[in-house]
Amino acid sequence: MQKLENFILGRWIPGSGDGQVLYDAVTGEAFARASTAGLDFHEVLVYARAVGNPALRRMTFHERGRMLKALALHLSAQKEKFYTLSYRTGATRADSWIDIEGGIGNLFSYASLRRKFPDEAYCLDGEAHILGKGGSFAAQHLLVPKEGTAIHINAFNFPVWGMLEKIAVNLLAGVPAVVKPATLTAYLTEAVVREIVASGILPDGALQLICGSAGDLLNYVGSQDVVTFTGSAATGLTLKTHPAILRENVPFTMEADSLNSIVLGEDVDPGMPEWDLFIKEIRREMTAKAGQKCTAIRRIFVPEGRLEAAREALSKALAQTVVGNPAHEKVRMGSLAGQVQREEVRSRVRELLADSRLIYGSLDDAPEVLDADGVKGAFLSPLLLLNEKPLAAEAVHSVEAFGPVSTLMPYRSLEEAVLLTKKGRGSLVCSLVTARPSLAREFVLGAATHHGRILVLNAACARESTGHGSPLPLLVHGGPGRAGGGEEMGGVRGVKHYMQRVAVQGDPTTLTAITGVYQPGGAQTTGDVHPFRKYFEELRIGDTVITHKRTVTAADIVNFANVSWDHFYAHTDHTSLEGTPFEHPVAHGYFVLSAAAGLFVDPGKGPVLLNYGLDECRFLKPVYAGTTIGVRLTVKEKIRQELKDDQDIPKGIVRWLVDVYDETGESVAVATILTMVRCREA
Ligand code: NDP
Repeated sequence: MQKLENFILGRWIPGSGDGQVLYDAVTGEAFARASTAGLDFHEVLVYARAVGNPALRRMTFHERGRMLKALALHLSAQKEKFYTLSYRTGATRADSWIDIEGGIGNLFSYASLRRKFPDEAYCLDGEAHILGKGGSFAAQHLLVPKEGTAIHINAFNFPVWGMLEKIAVNLLAGVPAVVKPATLTAYLTEAVVREIVASGILPDGALQLICGSAGDLLNYVGSQDVVTFTGSAATGLTLKTHPAILRENVPFTMEADSLNSIVLGEDVDPGMPEWDLFIKEIRREMTAKAGQKCTAIRRIFVPEGRLEAAREALSKALAQTVVGNPAHEKVRMGSLAGQVQREEVRSRVRELLADSRLIYGSLDDAPEVLDADGVKGAFLSPLLLLNEKPLAAEAVHSVEAFGPVSTLMPYRSLEEAVLLTKKGRGSLVCSLVTARPSLAREFVLGAATHHGRILVLNAACARESTGHGSPLPLLVHGGPGRAGGGEEMGGVRGVKHYMQRVAVQGDPTTLTAITGVYQPGGAQTTGDVHPFRKYFEELRIGDTVITHKRTVTAADIVNFANVSWDHFYAHTDHTSLEGTPFEHPVAHGYFVLSAAAGLFVDPGKGPVLLNYGLDECRFLKPVYAGTTIGVRLTVKEKIRQELKDDQDIPKGIVRWLVDVYDETGESVAVATILTMVRCREA
């Protein structure tokens, strides 16, 4: 029998003893063992912090992002191996797609996210704050990778995605990971980690894997570590209150049970496209992964007048679900992850039956299955329950049956529907199916406090909708209250969970030197060479050109109105200014900016390739005919660009602070403009 190994301290190491036996969910065959006995978990964390962390924190966001992309490409090329093994978990190919391609897709997404960060090991968070009236004292929030490790304790249902969705985030942040998948399906995670290790793409210590019990791992967590947990609320509570986590103030992100719901809008009748979308979404959520999805729909709310029609349509839709061997092409729903999970679901359904009744499917020991043994495999038919008094009911809003189980319930008003969704005491996701935007607004604003994500589904978005059950890399995955109160993924926001935010205070010149980004009021360096004559490498943060001046005339304003066709009254009509902020016809803001470019540009062909656009722009003071303007143009930030191919020009983006001031010295306009600048060296 195969014995899974643990990848720790840079080597594959088996645990001692027999360990836990792992079974094929479809055939019931015992085929592997997993043990972590004898492992030194303290050493595992020390190794992550001492070896993996420094290697990752030395890399820039862009290097880490490219590393994730390489990893995603490598795993994509190996994915058929994972699909084959995944059948043992009971998953169909479509289920495994969510797990395998979903996980790899997440790596790709976080690889691309590097572009939202500088090509540095750290980043700034938010704007600079000027703290002194004279401008000599300022502050800037800085984010640096934590010096510890991420510890991910994962659930059995997504052995691949569960790992990849989490490590993509901490690796981009510059922090290593120790992954502990649920033992039940750890064989699939182990197979993926074997490929990751063999690829040599990650630096030593960036990823360690524990297949089996977590032992005393949490005893050794430190204040620079981050722990994430996905699984049952009970285990989550035990771990969250672990003395070391409390003592060291370790951030703990939890994603636990969630009684997600779907609501059919009062506007939707059978025959409307939204009706079919509603039925299809429920069938998909009940049967995908045999309902073992943290986001699956557990509670279905329909206007009371549609209860019977919904019951009929759902029963008809569920009857099309062929249950059986997930490798068989006709099968739409495979097995649960194991016998223990099937028994667990049955006993939870019995609890639900305290105030609900079964209206579709059976709790029988052996459902009808295709091409498999219904007793040895952990099969269950979809189970639809009905509860006619959801306001008074308790179990349906508190018991999670982690399988193909959902309960249909009526509501009488939109307000009541909102209240009912909230009775789940916090969920990961809630869907509303409606064609009426005003109804959607009322529902979303009423229900938002209790759900991590809300999908409003209608015919307009159905074709491109990613569905109720799909957490997305750039969106927050997590929910309040019972759902755990945590946040996974979430794009840039998620990366920050693995970084320490520090508010740095000082004078603007020192802050510029620390952050590598020009801070307002910092020293500006002028020289003989115009910055437009310098290549990307030669430009220094703070390099400045102070231009000659120009007096704006009435003819400039008239001419600009004619050239741009912008004849807005404030620029053109002397008689219309009463009751406006203007005393005279005012120059167009875009004229002021264009005139600034006319002043600061060095026109000859040189390293500057093109004008790339504008980030921030403010017109601060009216410019009238007779005003004399000058410009200070300062290098604010430099972002080196990757070469797209061999033919690409080596270059970077330079962000410039443009400060246009008048004869009193006051700024009349400020902007951040971007240019693309050639590098001298490839
Ligand atoms: P558990 O909470 O038992 O296990 C989740 C993870 O925690 C596993 O990796 C498990 O390891 C680990 N774990 C358990 N005890 C400890 C401990 N003392 N110290 C460290 N790690 C520990 O959940 P299950 O996977 O068994 O699922 C049970 C229920 O959880 C489901 O029926 C469902 O209700 C809910 N669930 C919710 C999910 C969600 O995403 N919201 C996902 C999956 C489950 P090991 O496997 O080795 O025991």
